[in-house]
Amino acid sequence: VVEAHQVRKSFSGVEILKGVDLTIGKGDVVCLIGPSGSGKSTFLRCINHLEKIDGGALYVDGEMVGYRREGDRLYELKEAEIALKRRQIGMVFQRFNLFGHMTALENVMEAPVTVKKIPRAQAKMEAKALLDRVGLSHRYHAYPSSLSGGQQQRVAIARALAMKPTLMLFDEPTSALDPELVGEVLDVMRVLAREGMTMVIVTHEMSFARDVASKVAFMDNGAIVESGAPQAMFSAPSHPRTRDFLTRIL
Ligand code: ATP
Ligand code: MG
Repeated sequence: VVEAHQVRKSFSGVEILKGVDLTIGKGDVVCLIGPSGSGKSTFLRCINHLEKIDGGALYVDGEMVGYRREGDRLYELKEAEIALKRRQIGMVFQRFNLFGHMTALENVMEAPVTVKKIPRAQAKMEAKALLDRVGLSHRYHAYPSSLSGGQQQRVAIARALAMKPTLMLFDEPTSALDPELVGEVLDVMRVLAREGMTMVIVTHEMSFARDVASKVAFMDNGAIVESGAPQAMFSAPSHPRTRDFLTRIL
């Protein structure tokens, strides 16, 4: 689903991604771990067309991110074309950024109705089913301000799923939550993983990564230093920098 070859990205002359290589197959659950500032969020943003890469190549579902190939020439995608591509990818951030003036149900219906032009009645039915799936069947009509952080984050997940994405990106989805609310969000993600959703998850929840990830990738200083099955990564990391990081965090 995702192929990154030597992906590079700089901000005002400072190279932040220094050649990221990563392959993500259908149904993979990749947990991306690494120290603050290593480039994890930047890499997710590149996958989701929120940043343009400066070097290397990045493919999502076989198509190059940000460019269109015609013969042997590459053309930059226009904003409207990028918006189309972005629809296939769901993204959940640390901060829930729900629409505050809309109920949970309206938040989940919004994109299918306005972007995909799905009839309201159908969108509503699907949105209810999604809210049921994330355990919020009793809160359809609640506004974000009356929901707990964990509930808001579950609405955010339902909202991303409403576009029927082929790939879900999570950027520290639980790190803004009170500790007692973390579990309910991870449980929803665990179910998604079990159902075969392809997911990339930036997280510091190492026990979640150990249980759920098909692959753990350790990023440091703008590159993937090491990746592999969680058992191997956590019990016998081969790179000293991975070992250092894990001993500090575990
Ligand atoms: P954290 O764990 O703290 O979220 P991270 O691994 O997600 O860290 P990034 O947010 O990708 O790291 O940031 C990597 C580096 O890129 C940081 O030094 C950050 O300051 C810089 N950076 C990110 N976005 C921009 C931007 N738009 N302009 C300039 N610098 C940026
Ligand atoms: Mg980040």
